[in-house]
Amino acid sequence: MKILSERYEQYDIPQQLMAAGIYPYFRAIKSGQDSEVTINGKGVLMFGSNSYLGLSNHPKIKEAAIKAIEKYGTSCSGSRFLNGTLDIHLELEEKLAKLVGKDEAICFSTGFQANLGTISALCGRNEYLLLDSQDHASIIEGSRLSLAKILKFAHNDMASLESKLMLCEPDKNKLIVVDGIFSMEGDIVNLPEIVRLKEKYNASLMVDDAHAIGVIGQNGRGTSSHFNLTQDVDLIMGTFSKSLASIGGFIAGDKEVINFLKHNARALIFSASMPPASVASVSAAIDIMLNEPERMKHLWDLTKYAHQAFISAGIDTGKSETPIIPLYVRDDMKVLKLARILLDEGIFVNPVISPAVSKDDAMIRFSLMATHTYEQLDVAVEKIIRAFKELDVAPRFQRIE
Ligand code: PMP
Repeated sequence: MKILSERYEQYDIPQQLMAAGIYPYFRAIKSGQDSEVTINGKGVLMFGSNSYLGLSNHPKIKEAAIKAIEKYGTSCSGSRFLNGTLDIHLELEEKLAKLVGKDEAICFSTGFQANLGTISALCGRNEYLLLDSQDHASIIEGSRLSLAKILKFAHNDMASLESKLMLCEPDKNKLIVVDGIFSMEGDIVNLPEIVRLKEKYNASLMVDDAHAIGVIGQNGRGTSSHFNLTQDVDLIMGTFSKSLASIGGFIAGDKEVINFLKHNARALIFSASMPPASVASVSAAIDIMLNEPERMKHLWDLTKYAHQAFISAGIDTGKSETPIIPLYVRDDMKVLKLARILLDEGIFVNPVISPAVSKDDAMIRFSLMATHTYEQLDVAVEKIIRAFKELDVAPRFQRIE
């Protein structure tokens, strides 16, 4: 047997889960990412998507993508730095900077790369990165590449952040990086308090708005807009793979910082640029987001309705206040079983188990889209509550803190 195959043949957890019929990953969807999708020839209600505004299959966006392919082809065949910059990349960057209220923006080919490239370029040896313990994996990976000293503070805990800031040498560069809406927990970062601490300790602040754009802030402008603190946040990062119906990511900030990143972020320089169809899709999605505020309103009406329904059934939704609703189960095996039962019942939800979260935080991640109907939501909530009872999931308030 080959050396690598021999080394990894022992890794058979996925095969064990498949044999038990509870393997939940890489499920093939045979339709667009709508509120109902097709899996195994069957209609399934989608409550596991990040398409918060429900735009991924929108006719105007598809039309924009098709037109871009017709004009520019399917690939830029190179990096933004060299042959891969189109006029539509520059137009999109201008639109994004204006959207989030910053001087300039630069697009990366994924949100992951935006975090990786930005954080690793901006912080170096003998400098500090202060990260929320629940920050996204791409922030962690970017931090590792940076060689800076990483100080993690307890999730959204401002006393913990301050205690870490106090450990930093005062005259050294310090960058605080947080998610705006946390991707699994669904809570919103305590931005006003972070801004106060950032000023007190002379630090800089970057907010990852992957899950906040299209969800909070004026017309979906994100966390800084939500708190009216745009001028106090140095860098705003966003992805296009969630509300904006495409793929790619951006970072926006002062023109001096963006200029530096354009010439130093390796994930930008050494990777091919966003393809034309993706660029055009984002631009069309932003127009819809700005011109159809009723989508965000419906998303929030559904959100309040769903929170109420889960909480009154005794399901533990933690500190979520957004369309991302964690349904805490706190048991990996039960989470996998629930995901399977629910799929069989025609409900798609995301199982989140260790090591993605600690064992005590294993959950079903339930997420809403602006295109869901109340009828669809009622069906899902009813089936979820029944499945939780069937598997005897400990209700809210029984958790020992
Ligand atoms: N940041 C956060 C908070 C995310 O949740 C994600 C994706 N799940 C990313 C960054 C990476 O974005 P992308 O999927 O566009 O690479």
